[in-house]
Amino acid sequence: MADRYLRLTSTAPGRFLTRRLGLPQPTPLRRWSERTPALDGPLLHLTAGPKGLDGLADTATRAGLPPASGTPGERYAAVLLDATHLATPADLAEVHTALHPVVRRLAPSGRIVLAGAPLSAADHHQAAAQQALEGFVRSLGKEIGHGSTVNLLRLTDPAAAESTLRFLLSPRSAYLSGQVLDTTGTLPTSPGDPARPLAGRTALITGAAQGIGAAVATALARDGAHVLCLDVPGAQAALTRTAERLGGTPLPLDITAPDAAEHIASAAPDGLDALVHNAGITRDRRLANMPAERWNTVLDVNLAAVLTTTDALLATGAIRRGGTVIATASIAGIAGNTGQTNYAASKAGIIGLVRALAPRAAAEHGVTVNAVAPGFIETRMTAAVPLLIREAGRRMNSLAQGGLPEDVAETTAWLADPASAAVNGQVIRVCGQSLLGA
Ligand code: NAD
Repeated sequence: MADRYLRLTSTAPGRFLTRRLGLPQPTPLRRWSERTPALDGPLLHLTAGPKGLDGLADTATRAGLPPASGTPGERYAAVLLDATHLATPADLAEVHTALHPVVRRLAPSGRIVLAGAPLSAADHHQAAAQQALEGFVRSLGKEIGHGSTVNLLRLTDPAAAESTLRFLLSPRSAYLSGQVLDTTGTLPTSPGDPARPLAGRTALITGAAQGIGAAVATALARDGAHVLCLDVPGAQAALTRTAERLGGTPLPLDITAPDAAEHIASAAPDGLDALVHNAGITRDRRLANMPAERWNTVLDVNLAAVLTTTDALLATGAIRRGGTVIATASIAGIAGNTGQTNYAASKAGIIGLVRALAPRAAAEHGVTVNAVAPGFIETRMTAAVPLLIREAGRRMNSLAQGGLPEDVAETTAWLADPASAAVNGQVIRVCGQSLLGA
């Protein structure tokens, strides 16, 4: 599972050799830990366009980084460019004016966040200018290097975007780049203690015995949630270890069981605040060689069970108002993959589910519905991929390395935060800006 190439390029001789050969140069990413909870350095706040968004400066100040001092030669941990009032393509010159002089002064593992506005249906000049920001962000993400990321945050209300800005300006978003994060959903946010935003809440994570699911359970427990850890009875030993380590409750259960929703509801008699559908399987074969059984099992676990349990738990009110459903898609569901017609169909189905259900779940149940779409993440699932394909998967993204389960877990924790209730119907790619399906 270890990325030996990343280790090699972290040494001086390895860097020299791989540079001479023109090979990718991944920078080890700065991720969240108790010892390194924040990025190292100040935030530079700039504005492009006629004015900035009222309240954004205060929100940015609360997001955790000290403001830049203006000292000559200062290096920035992050740059926030407020482009919310860009309304014409001519205004775009200001994006260049603002960022051109500072882009080289971003520290490694730095962040560039553009704040943009929703596209106006009534003003195609505004829509052109705001959509232009997306192309800009995706291109800068590809060229910036040094483990830095570039994302676009769409917002109208800074308070509703605070948890998202905090996430983007922190080491927790290390593997998220080239993405558009929309915070214009209709549900009210309820900001709590940013250090323990899930205190007093209950989260159920499927597929929690290992891999990404275990990391999600760990992050949600760290953030204060009581975690119900679900996995197949065959994984009970690992499941119990994970749950016990986190002070949570193991729930050995096959998510495709017809009565799975009832079991979940009775394991959470006071209701759930977060339902994380992470369980997933692959049964790869080209379509011509794929027996129906392989097709059906993947569709059953990855998609049908997600639909059935979500519907039942919403209908009975087992997911409380203010709660959230977070499903797991994949970049394979966006780009497709050889040998994965079944898997990609199931993951694309998740995207359809999220987009269609999100507005209704918000209106009828006060619940948000989003998905994470991981790229290449270092787990047992990807360790089983043949070496050359694995190596290509690791390098074919802007950060030139695979993500870790923790990267998906941090994204899930941000979505599960009640302060993120303005994020709804989104599919968030945690893929280091993978070239696949970009
Ligand atoms: P994994 O195989 O390490 O873990 C998946 C877990 O789901 C296992 O513990 C397994 O026992 C459990 N599970 C499988 N079927 C189940 C069922 N019927 N009921 C309950 N639990 C069940 O996989 P992972 O790499 O941690 O992936 C987690 C999720 O992320 C999956 O949905 C996967 O498709 C998705 N994903 C992973 C990657 C990656 O690169 N690893 C990329 C994209 C998407």
